[in-house]
Amino acid sequence: MTFNSKLDNINVYEAGKPIELVVREFGIDSKNIVKLASNENPRGCSPKVSEKVSSIVENMALYPDDSMYELKDKLSSFYNVKNNNTIIGAGSDQIIEFIMHAKASSKAKILINSVTFAMYEIYASHVGAEVIKTSSVSHDLDEFYELYKENNPEIIFLCVPNNPTGDCLDSKEVYEFIEKIDNDTLVVVDGAYMEYAKFKDDKKNIEPSVLIEKFDNVIYLGTFSKAYGLGGMRVGYGISNNEIINNLYKLRPPFNITTLSLAAAIEALDDKSFVDESLSLCFSEMKKYELFAQQNNFEFISSYTNFITLIFDQDRDSSKISDELLKLGMIVRNLKGYGLNAIRVTIGTVSQNDRFFELFEKVD
Ligand SMILES: *Cc1c(COP(=O)(O)O)cnc(C)c1O
Repeated sequence: MTFNSKLDNINVYEAGKPIELVVREFGIDSKNIVKLASNENPRGCSPKVSEKVSSIVENMALYPDDSMYELKDKLSSFYNVKNNNTIIGAGSDQIIEFIMHAKASSKAKILINSVTFAMYEIYASHVGAEVIKTSSVSHDLDEFYELYKENNPEIIFLCVPNNPTGDCLDSKEVYEFIEKIDNDTLVVVDGAYMEYAKFKDDKKNIEPSVLIEKFDNVIYLGTFSKAYGLGGMRVGYGISNNEIINNLYKLRPPFNITTLSLAAAIEALDDKSFVDESLSLCFSEMKKYELFAQQNNFEFISSYTNFITLIFDQDRDSSKISDELLKLGMIVRNLKGYGLNAIRVTIGTVSQNDRFFELFEKVD
């Protein structure tokens, strides 16, 4: 059978390995497997969310509220914007997909950081757009600006803080950069880990309300998958001016968020202390990883997220290390595919992290 020839040029996302796969492949009991590979919240989600979801799970016959009024209302007061400044997606991934289709044609150019969230490039390949990358591993906004002037891209993605490296631009730098960008280039500020960055250093905090008040060509992305512990629910959002939001809405399939996911996200926004406790656990445990890196002479990137990237020199190989950890039931992310001899480790619970340090001794 022949398919649309466009599919020949599409890259697919390699998701973090699920626990189920390690059970099947290595016959390890699932309770002895630790997954520190996809930046999920190791504490799970707020108990109030689980309670809420269990209480409605018996009533699943009706379609969800397609206006998503309650979640949009909660979210807009949380961020101090208007209801019509928000759009909800099945993960912020889906918003990235809408953005790509709304703004980029096959002649479009997309400007991204050399090492960044893989989905920008993958969705660009869906529309056949050309991807321009910086050479610097961390976001260098001077280089971004040079490439912007040279290429006049339709979309620029800034991942703040950046995945998979964990470093983070200051909000001031981001604002100064967008100031210089012409109105017809859309700047996407992906704040998937902004809760962490803001907690660690207020200078990193980008408020979507400030962004959209200052600029007509910017969209902020957030997600419930990381700090809120709802990766399995698939809820993310975009915040922008009404013109951009209306255009993205044209691409949204009806009922793209399930009733359970809507309820979970609404409840999650209310439990601030759950999120705060998660952030504080993350950064106190992060110190152990920094110490571990120093003791082993590994380079690491100071992280504003819930993961840390450990960089090895030539006498160690990140593929070998992550494969061997996997056989012992420890799932981490190998960054070889991103051109780095490094692994990315999600900060887990105290016992998960201790297990990581213990198992690392065995593979090293
Ligand atoms: C996890 C992540 C997202 C989105 O995740 P969803 O689960 O689709 O909401 C977006 N951007 C970055 C940088 C991420 O790490």
